[in-house]
Amino acid sequence: MSAKRDYYQVLEVERGASAEELKKSYRKLAVKYHPDKNPGDKAAEEKFKELGEAYEALSDPQKRGAYDQFGHAAFDPRMRAGAGGGGQRGSAGGFHDPFDIFREVFAGGGGGGGGSIFEELFGEQQQRNPTGPRRGSDLRYDLELDFEEAVLGCEKEINISKLDQCETCHGAGGEKGSSIKPCGTCGGRGQIIRSKGIFSVAQTCPDCDGAGQKIDKPCRSCRGSGRRERSSKIKLKIPPGVDNGARLRSAGNGESGTRSGPPGDLYVVLHVREHGLFSRDGDDLICEVPISFTQATLGADVDVPTMAGRTTVRLPSGTQHGTVFRIRGKGVQNIQGHGIGDLLVRVQIEVPTKLNAEQRAKLVEFAELCKDDNVHDDATGFFTKAKGFFKKGE
Ligand SMILES: [Zn+2]
Ligand SMILES: [Zn+2]
Repeated sequence: MSAKRDYYQVLEVERGASAEELKKSYRKLAVKYHPDKNPGDKAAEEKFKELGEAYEALSDPQKRGAYDQFGHAAFDPRMRAGAGGGGQRGSAGGFHDPFDIFREVFAGGGGGGGGSIFEELFGEQQQRNPTGPRRGSDLRYDLELDFEEAVLGCEKEINISKLDQCETCHGAGGEKGSSIKPCGTCGGRGQIIRSKGIFSVAQTCPDCDGAGQKIDKPCRSCRGSGRRERSSKIKLKIPPGVDNGARLRSAGNGESGTRSGPPGDLYVVLHVREHGLFSRDGDDLICEVPISFTQATLGADVDVPTMAGRTTVRLPSGTQHGTVFRIRGKGVQNIQGHGIGDLLVRVQIEVPTKLNAEQRAKLVEFAELCKDDNVHDDATGFFTKAKGFFKKGE
C-alpha cells in the first residue's frame, strides 16, 4: 500500500472548494472511475474507492474541519465501527462504502422528471428492466447524543420529513377507477434513445419516469407518483458503546420505493456531546482527578466518579503528578460485544495558592528540613544530575 493521497487532490479541487464544487467534481470523477464502466480494471476500482472515502470525509463539514486541521490522522479507525440499528438487518458494515454515498449523491440530484444520472449512465441492471421496481433513496440523519446516552445506550424518537407511500392511493398512483396505459412517448419501454454526437444514449423516459406506463387518472394527493412528503416518527435503539462519528443503519426507514420497489435505508450519524468529567479513548473512559500535594506525598484514599456511582482509589505515598490508575471494567461496553473497557484515573496534583500564616510557616520549616535531604529524588534523578551539572560549571 502506498501512502494515502490528500483528499483534495483525490477530488481534484482546491482546498477552499465549496460543497457544491466538491459534489460536482466527485460526480464527474465517480462517473469516470465507476466499476461498471471499467470492468476488471483494478486501478479504476481503487480510484473509485479512494474517491468515495475522500468525498465522505470532505462532504461532512465536521469531518472536513477535522481533516483540514489534522490530515488523515483525524480519522481514528474506531470511528469506522458501525452498529446494528433499529432495523432487522443488523450491522451497518464498514464506514466507507463508496457505493452508499454514491447512491446518496446521485439520488439527491436525480429527482423530478428525468430520472437520475446514475441510472442513465450505468444503472445497467435498472436498464435491463427499466420499468421494474425502484428502491427508495437512502437518507441521512444527524443525531446528537449526550455522552451518557452513547456510553449506556438509549432509545430515541426522531421526526423526519421524507417521501412515504401515499396514503390515498397506497402507492399505486391512480384514483379509484383509473386505468393504466402504455406511455406514448417511449412506447412502453421506459427509455428513449437520444444521440449525443456519435453515441446513442438510452435515457429514462421523462414522460413516464421510466415506468413505461401512464395512469389516466393520477391520484390527486401524490399526482400519480405514489409517494408524498410526510413527517414520520422513527424509534431508534442506540446500542451501548457507540462513539462520535458512528453510523447506524435503520433498515427500511429511508424513502419509500416506487413501482413496488423496496424502501431505502436511513443512516443515522451520531454526534456525541462532551462530558464535564469523562472523556473517551475507545472503550476506556478517562477521568482527571485533582488531589492535594499532601495526599500525593503521604498517600490517601480518594473518591473518584464512575458512570455508575463512585468508587475509591488508594493512592500510595509518593504518587506523582499524572500517574494513571486503571480501574478494570468501569469503562464502556464494547460495541461488538468484546467486553467492557476500563476507567483510567489520571491524578492532577493541585498546588495550594492561598496559605495562611501558620501553613506558610510550617511549609517553610518543611523546606528547611528538605534542604540537605532529597525527599523525592533518587541517585539518578533530576536534582542529583542538576547538582553535578552546576559543579562542572564552577
Ligand atoms: Zn396517491
Ligand atoms: Zn414513457
